[in-house]
Amino acid sequence: MSGKKGFVLCVCQGTCPSFTKMDIFGVLADVRREKCFDYVCLHPQLCVGDGEEFLKVFLSGGATEKLYIAACDPQMQCKMYRDTFEAVGFDKSKHIALDIRNKTTEEAVAAIREMAANNP
Ligand code: SF4
Repeated sequence: MSGKKGFVLCVCQGTCPSFTKMDIFGVLADVRREKCFDYVCLHPQLCVGDGEEFLKVFLSGGATEKLYIAACDPQMQCKMYRDTFEAVGFDKSKHIALDIRNKTTEEAVAAIREMAANNP
């Protein structure tokens, strides 16, 4: 059985000015409809304790082979999630990070679509 491609949208609690131009649920609905990934989900704040716990719990089963995260700066994402990935044995090279701050719904969906196409 091949591993799943999972997508997480993280939005700084939805209150950060960087995410006010997009319709968060509209982005998720479009990405889901296009079947870019095996599953999609939303998390309000991945980079705090319970966000790390969320990643640990849902990666620990090993079903997810690639994890695409649309959120803030990719380098920041790599640093913030590194310990969590190590804790569950998730290969950090399978984390595909995308910065979608300050994008409209259409711009965010286009960027996510491109990320998926460029990292099959
Ligand atoms: S991971 Fe990035 S986008 Fe998500 S809450 Fe933290 S700073 Fe915001």
